[in-house]
Amino acid sequence: MTAPAEQGMPSTSEIVANKSFFGHPRGLGTLFAVEMWERFSYYGLRPLLILFMTAAVTSSGFGFDRATAGAIVGIYAASVYLASLPGGWIADRWLGLQRSIWYGGIIIALGHLSIGLSAVFAQKAFFLGLVLIVIGTGLLKPNISAIVGDLYPQGGARRDAGFSIYYMGINIGAFVGQLVTGYLGERVGWHFGFGAAGVGMVLGLITFKLLARNTLGPIGLGVVVSTEEQQRTRNIAMAALGVIGLLIVLFMTGVFTFNAVAIAGYSTVGIISLAVAYFAYLFILGGLNTEEKKRILVIFVLFLGAAAFWSAFEQAPTSLNLFARDFTDRNMFGFEIPTTWFQSINSFFVIAFAPVFAVLWTVLDKKGISPSSPAKFAAGLLMCGIGFYIMLVPANAVIAAGGTLKVSAWWLTMSYMLQTMGELSLSPVGLSSMTKLAPRRYVGQMMGVWFMATALGNLIAGLVGGHIDPEKLELMPQLFNRTALSMFLFTAIFIALIVPIRNMMKSTTVKDH
Ligand code: GLN
Repeated sequence: MTAPAEQGMPSTSEIVANKSFFGHPRGLGTLFAVEMWERFSYYGLRPLLILFMTAAVTSSGFGFDRATAGAIVGIYAASVYLASLPGGWIADRWLGLQRSIWYGGIIIALGHLSIGLSAVFAQKAFFLGLVLIVIGTGLLKPNISAIVGDLYPQGGARRDAGFSIYYMGINIGAFVGQLVTGYLGERVGWHFGFGAAGVGMVLGLITFKLLARNTLGPIGLGVVVSTEEQQRTRNIAMAALGVIGLLIVLFMTGVFTFNAVAIAGYSTVGIISLAVAYFAYLFILGGLNTEEKKRILVIFVLFLGAAAFWSAFEQAPTSLNLFARDFTDRNMFGFEIPTTWFQSINSFFVIAFAPVFAVLWTVLDKKGISPSSPAKFAAGLLMCGIGFYIMLVPANAVIAAGGTLKVSAWWLTMSYMLQTMGELSLSPVGLSSMTKLAPRRYVGQMMGVWFMATALGNLIAGLVGGHIDPEKLELMPQLFNRTALSMFLFTAIFIALIVPIRNMMKSTTVKDH
């Protein structure tokens, strides 16, 4: 997906050979910074949403009930990731990766602006803002991840290491974003928090504008499909945008109403059907040769593993969040740690461990014992399973004490640490694998598929994790146990698949699977 370099622009080979960002191409630094700011804005806004929507009207909130607000957040989070599929498709067939990132960022910034203006225009501007963020993130998130892969045409462990570093940028943004906007939103005023998230995205756009030309050059500027295909894609995208616009107008004028709770329930089935239909379409009508079909099959397996993993991991804002609030001793040196700060533990551990994992993959590779993607997935699922399994101890202790006990904060910290180690074995590796396995003309879409697994995981986690109830304590260890067991089951499946996948991929050009 590269175009010929323009006048004065470094060439692809110069970009790729550059080693000035921690031994990696400078372009990685640009993508690191832009995605850091985008995630600052995304994670900065997310925890405020439910607090703001459920806050009473007298506290400048909307006064929504918890179920509705929770369902809206679930639909929003799932839609953000789901939009990656059309976002990747548009990049592959029309805009190219770089332009998609740029326009996506602008649309996200407009979304934050609209949410900021909800101080004046109330709910209409707020929901319009959320829709804009969904569309913008769909354009930006898969394509900025895909371009990281393009910096490492040689693939291998260096590409995995590059993705680990990039993942650190994501989590620096998430960590700082949640602290800053959470403080501003809760203590100063909702719209200061929303505004700060928007400023973050604008800084990301400025960074991209200033650095992209010299550090990414022609990478991700072109598309590999014909001009007619590009025009057709543009027409379809514009028509879809028109339909979305019309729906927004109908909702805003009250012609349509919206039952958030019901929609959240149907969405899981909807996403699963969409995923199956999409893979079936690719197999039957995607014009793939045998090698490409094998690769897509591996992508499908990784997709299933990822969806399972995220359905446990994304319980952080639901079941584990409630555990932090209700059953964890949050007093430290006379200070009560806010519940939401527990959400940042994961980002903290990613920042701490990502470099370790990046080095680990490189060292193992040098020794010639680089684990394959399914092996790394198995390790990730296992670690996440153990993270949930250890939670049985404090959960049972709480029950034994009749729900009055508050356990040490170390339990959740340990659980998050194990889950994060799992995340680092699976998530950056999954991103990297998508760029390796995807046929060239499908790379943006395959990133979209990857994030569709996140959308699915988020919805399942929301559905199972929301059912923790201080009135029905026995459900808590049951949930942790079931979550851990399903992780162990998927670990076993992935271990069993290591050899067959390796054999299947032997004759293909992708060597490390
Ligand atoms: N925290 C990571 C991000 O925001 C991974 C999210 C996910 O895929 N579940 O990119």
